Amino acid sequence: MGKTGGKGLSLARRLYTSRTLGLALGLLCVGAAMYPLNPAPWVWGLMVVNGVLWPHVAYQWARRAKVPFHAEHRNILVDAFLGGFWVAAMQFNPLPSAATLSMMAMNNVAIGGLRFLLVGTVAQILGVGVGLLVFTPAFVAQTSPLQLYACLPLLSLYPLALGWICFQQATTLGRQKRELLALSRTDSLTGLLNHGAWKDQLEVEFQRCQRQQQGGAIALIDIDHFKTINDTYGHVAGDIVLRQLSKMLKQNLRATDVAGRYGGDEFCVLLPDLPLDSAAAAMDALRDRFATLGYEQNPALKVSLSIGLAAFDPSHTDATLWLNDADQALYQAKTTGRNRVIYRIDGKPHHELLDPV
Ligand code: GH3
Ligand code: MG
Repeated sequence: MGKTGGKGLSLARRLYTSRTLGLALGLLCVGAAMYPLNPAPWVWGLMVVNGVLWPHVAYQWARRAKVPFHAEHRNILVDAFLGGFWVAAMQFNPLPSAATLSMMAMNNVAIGGLRFLLVGTVAQILGVGVGLLVFTPAFVAQTSPLQLYACLPLLSLYPLALGWICFQQATTLGRQKRELLALSRTDSLTGLLNHGAWKDQLEVEFQRCQRQQQGGAIALIDIDHFKTINDTYGHVAGDIVLRQLSKMLKQNLRATDVAGRYGGDEFCVLLPDLPLDSAAAAMDALRDRFATLGYEQNPALKVSLSIGLAAFDPSHTDATLWLNDADQALYQAKTTGRNRVIYRIDGKPHHELLDPV
């Protein structure tokens, strides 16, 4: 099923409900207006067909169409045309005519905006024209009390139903928008924040640190020799290692810490309101646990992490400089032997937290 088909089908289903209700109530309204005019049996027949049978025919027609959306477009034009036709048949009896035309206009504008409204109006005018050719052109100036009552269900229930349908659709769209937004911020392999979303959080945290003149830390984590893991055990095993690390990050960080996948085998963590030595200790514990876990699962599989840490520093004029600091620390961790945490205080040379195990 193509996209147009899906879209058209859900439109056809929504219209089926509103059309069935609207035309049944419309039949009551038009029938009451037609009754004193003594219409021919075929006119009664046509009224019943339009009020009761047509919604089902229209739905089946749209469902079976190659492009249900286009089929519904045509069905709406048929609705509008017949609406105009009945207005002429009722000899323009004010209340039933206004009720019929305005309910249809509400329907058309809710479904297709101004364009549907305009096209529908043209079809209504055509319907009036044909109605004038078929029936004796005349004008009933007054709506009787009975006819007024017969219009009330249409006037009160139909807007309620259409409003409800529109509300439900708006709710569904809102939910889908939230789901899409969440998807666009998530890394599909690990479920962590993706690069862009994590950087947004970094920016927020950077501005908070600047305002409050107090710092947190950021960590860049890279798996050592990950390419070799891929080459030796395959990419599926590599993916499992990536997922293991992200699971460990989710389980071992505080609720306020924000972990993301920076890209490839590189991960990033925001550690708000944490002194650098505590952040370094937390990261070193992670490094240690990850190496142990890898060994327990497969002693031949050597997995280790290099981690670069940087604390917020008031001299950072933007978040990129902060990130650069962490990147340099990571670079140093890589060049000095890997499997270690390196951090930097007050712009002084990098410090290594612990010797590799
Ligand atoms: P280093 O110790 O210097 O970090 O070496 P490395 O091999 O880890 O570094 P490098 O950046 O050369 O390799 C990263 C590899 O990660 C290369 C790429 O094929 C692999 N990779 C990137 N994304 C994925 C992924 O989603 N799944 C898997 N299995 N591998 C990935
Ligand atoms: Mg790597």
